[in-house]
Amino acid sequence: MTPINAYAAQSATTPLTPFNFERRDVGANDVQIEILYCGVCHSDIHQVRNEWGGSIYPMVPGHEIVGRITKIGSDVKDFTIGELAGVGCFVDSCRECPSCLAHEEQYCDNGMVGTYNGRDKEGNPTYGGYSTQIVVDAKYTLHVADSLPIEGVAPLLCAGITTYSPLRHWNIGKGHKVAVVGLGGLGHMAVKFAAAFGADVTVLSTSKSKEQDALNLGAHHFAVTKDADTMKKLQGKFDFILSTISASHEYNDYLNLLTLNGTMVVVGVPPQPSVVGAFNLIGKRRSIAGSLIGGIKETQEMLDYCAEHNIVSDVEVIKVSSINEAYERMLKGDVHYRFVIDIASLK
Ligand code: NAP
Ligand code: ZN
Ligand code: ZN
Repeated sequence: MTPINAYAAQSATTPLTPFNFERRDVGANDVQIEILYCGVCHSDIHQVRNEWGGSIYPMVPGHEIVGRITKIGSDVKDFTIGELAGVGCFVDSCRECPSCLAHEEQYCDNGMVGTYNGRDKEGNPTYGGYSTQIVVDAKYTLHVADSLPIEGVAPLLCAGITTYSPLRHWNIGKGHKVAVVGLGGLGHMAVKFAAAFGADVTVLSTSKSKEQDALNLGAHHFAVTKDADTMKKLQGKFDFILSTISASHEYNDYLNLLTLNGTMVVVGVPPQPSVVGAFNLIGKRRSIAGSLIGGIKETQEMLDYCAEHNIVSDVEVIKVSSINEAYERMLKGDVHYRFVIDIASLK
């Protein structure tokens, strides 16, 4: 067993504080990674505060992990010691169901094992990346190129794949008018990918102050959703909407912005459900859909795409001791555009 320094939530209502635990020994199929950077996802806040229910404490959050491999198991062939590697939102799945066999382990019929706030096959709680090291089965580990700034790569492991996957699934590219709703961690990656794929991209935001940033990130247009006149003018304008909103809101307001046959994909997970009006769908044969992260194969494809096209997340690197303050800033929409913990601050 390896002793680990970490930050953990002990309950839904207390701040994160230092925490020590032990990782399992490296098994034949495992790699051990010394974590360098870990991104801070809004899902960390939802789960730390038990907003989705079922949270397990103590909870060490973090599923946007990049680090260097320090040990490999005897049966691991495709990783080497010293190589950069990444870990995303899950560390195992059943490996046998149709979803797992189709490389979509995130939709495993038997439930994927979350990187944190989950239980492994032995029933032990899983602990995430706000920690100094992690031991993961090599099949659930990603290769990370040496060419990119690694603090900007970490958020690709969740924010990146969660936006890349639906854009690819719905074949978004040239000729599509795309709206990205919410310019936070996921939203800013959605803008980068949608623009890279050739779409005409509009950011719909509650924060007027993010306009210039949206354009710098690659968006072609920007609109403030609090302005009723603007929302009226945008009705029927978009082929595809990717909604990353983390808090409760009215889905119908955004559905109305879709054109004939348009699709809105929800990736944000507000704790409360939202009403969807039939008239908002039938009048223009609109669809509403959801999407959950992406499988290991597609995550590797996304990382390779980013290395080839020089795409990383725009990050604000923080010390782990600033994590509670970072959560408060995210809740106010004050994130530009992903907090990433420098894990050296845990040593
Ligand atoms: P984030 O960085 O905090 O960004 C969320 C953005 O949503 C905010 O910056 C804000 O953007 C906008 N927003 C917040 N409250 C709003 C409100 N009441 N009405 C309208 N817009 C609002 O969060 P994130 O890390 O990108 O995560 C976003 C959501 O996706 C979370 O719910 C998270 O749990 C979920 N998520 C889902 C998956 C998946 O697989 N489906 C994966 C990762 C995360 P503006 O300032 O531009 O308005
Ligand atoms: Zn996440
Ligand atoms: Zn499965």
